[in-house]
Amino acid sequence: MTASIAKTFYPPHRVLMGPGPSDVPSRVLDAISRPTLGHLDPVFADMMEELKGLLRYAFNTRNAVTFPVSGPGSVGMETCFVNLINPGEKVIVCRNGVFGGRMIENVERCGGIAVVVEDAWGKAVDPNKLADALKAHPDTRIVAFVQAETSTGALSDAKTLCEIARRHGCLTIVDAVTSLGGSPLMVDEWGIDAIYSGSQKCLSCPPGLSPVSFSDAAVAKIKARPKKAQSWFMDLNLVLGYWGGGGGAPRTYHHTAPTNSLYGLHESLVILQEEGLEKAWARHTRNHLAFRAGLENLGLNFLVDEAHRLPQLNSVFIPQGVDEKALRKTLLDEHRLEIGAGLGDFAGKVWRFGLMGHSSRIENVVYCLNALEAVFTAGGMKLERGAAVAAAHQIYAAQAQTEIAS
Ligand SMILES: *Cc1c(COP(=O)(O)O)cnc(C)c1O
Repeated sequence: MTASIAKTFYPPHRVLMGPGPSDVPSRVLDAISRPTLGHLDPVFADMMEELKGLLRYAFNTRNAVTFPVSGPGSVGMETCFVNLINPGEKVIVCRNGVFGGRMIENVERCGGIAVVVEDAWGKAVDPNKLADALKAHPDTRIVAFVQAETSTGALSDAKTLCEIARRHGCLTIVDAVTSLGGSPLMVDEWGIDAIYSGSQKCLSCPPGLSPVSFSDAAVAKIKARPKKAQSWFMDLNLVLGYWGGGGGAPRTYHHTAPTNSLYGLHESLVILQEEGLEKAWARHTRNHLAFRAGLENLGLNFLVDEAHRLPQLNSVFIPQGVDEKALRKTLLDEHRLEIGAGLGDFAGKVWRFGLMGHSSRIENVVYCLNALEAVFTAGGMKLERGAAVAAAHQIYAAQAQTEIAS
């Protein structure tokens, strides 16, 4: 067998406006390219402690057990389920999209009994349905739901859902992969027990890391497990020998942490802290509102009701007669712009536009609206050239006015 001679891989520059990854700022890419350290190097250990503090800031928590899992959001998800569920326990999963479905998979693989609270795709989770399910199943131990359903762009009321769960003596597992850094999230105030996120959505790092945080009640349950967690890699009782540390406690080898990727996450959180969490949330909303005006000017309608719309994930129905696959290919090839396709029932029916983290900028809003106008016009649609971008600018101008006034 002869292997062909491979050359250095140079990825093209793209504008990332799909459901993640989002655009990565050069400060984060620079951080990742710095010298690799050993995962037990004391200098690296100091950075790990700072990183944990920055994650506590982003999650709004004092939880001691707050750290990034080495793996994508799915590994953070599995870490929560595999550690918190004992075989035979009943877990209510609220499903309103793809990622709630994955939670059910996790519960069953952990030997738990999943009770599913269904809401239609595109809707928020209905708190009344959760309350009813808890009344019907008083032996439930855990409630799990997705705060920001990336498959549709629906935001659920995490505060209320956690309140209901706590009233029934349940622990909560919350998916914040798309919400962290983009939408209000108060882990301690809302009483969330286990939460996981991802590096590549509103934190704007490359994919591959999953910030997690566990309340004292969750940690107590994990420490008291009658049986070891089924996963060796994700067993927190082992992982914390490495990530626990702090205050001079020794760190022991568990797995080799992805040191350079962690520099990147550290830098992205430094950027978030510089901007301020509330300001980052507000920026996501501002850009969403301008983008919305442009999309509506192009005649596109949103999938999710205004009250439950995620600013960082905009799902709109595809206009009649458009070859959506061909259009996405043109956007990628000619405009170097990536947008998201629909998933599940919405495959071929909606597009998903991400305005996450560093991608949530006026440059991206204007660029994308221009590109859409160009491809729609080329496809024979009659549009007033420049009107969509003008509609977005009008919103930006109005926002600037209210800012001056306040
Ligand atoms: C992206 C995403 C995940 C999975 O994260 P990966 O990094 O792709 O493993 C889980 N939940 C939600 C809501 C997501 O958006």
